[in-house]
Amino acid sequence: MNLILLGAPGAGKGTQAFELSKILQIPHISTGDIFRDNIKRNTELGAIANSYISKGELVPDEITIGIVRDRLSQADCDKGFILDGFPRSIPQAEALERMLGESGRKIDWIINIVVDDDIIVERLSYRRVCPACGDTYHLKFNPAEGNMCKCGSQLVQRNDDRADVIRHRIEEYHKTTEPLVEFYRHRGKLLNVRSENSISESLQNTLYALGLKGI
Ligand code: ADP
Ligand code: ADP
Repeated sequence: MNLILLGAPGAGKGTQAFELSKILQIPHISTGDIFRDNIKRNTELGAIANSYISKGELVPDEITIGIVRDRLSQADCDKGFILDGFPRSIPQAEALERMLGESGRKIDWIINIVVDDDIIVERLSYRRVCPACGDTYHLKFNPAEGNMCKCGSQLVQRNDDRADVIRHRIEEYHKTTEPLVEFYRHRGKLLNVRSENSISESLQNTLYALGLKGI
């Protein structure tokens, strides 16, 4: 299955993608994770990406599209993939259609994770992430014992999960990314999934929408 997880920052894309990847046995591809990995390794791409991410701006389309093209050409994507955080603009969505078309593939479903802005701010402000395995926690809704990940690493707060940057990211979402909801609705493959409830209920909503109820 080839899936896209769409939604505002903090909607729960990464959390759901992490679980869906285990359930469906297909890779979870997060452009945010790819950028953060490059920032950690001090690569040239990391330096460029960080200059945008730290301000809550989107990394330019040409850079992001190239990264996804490379990733989707790897063999582990042959049996399916979950895109988390890509596409985030109409030009990225059009480029994705072209690159998949070139290899005879298409997107099966776009899962649009829907939550209100006030919930998003609370989710992002209390988010904690594992720099080693990429798992995501929340100080209230999914707390970790002793601020340690299940894999044994110390959890951290992302630099862009600060109040001023969060505000800017939400603005960017409404301006540049939200138009994708209409773009995909027209293609008839959009599944709207509400995610105001707990993490497990939200995941069940997604599985239900995908026709995978009971897994
Ligand atoms: P995104 O990838 O869309 O930015 P995350 O998956 O990182 O979002 O989730 C943002 C924060 O909200 C994390 O701290 C996560 O643990 C928490 N979270 C995710 N889904 C839910 C939910 N349904 N209910 C409560 N908290 C959630
Ligand atoms: P979240 O879903 O919580 O906003 P991500 O990890 O998906 O976080 O993205 C973090 C940051 O990385 C974004 O705010 C943006 O600066 C950059 N980024 C990630 N994906 C893209 C993309 N597809 N296009 C442009 N910038 C991106």
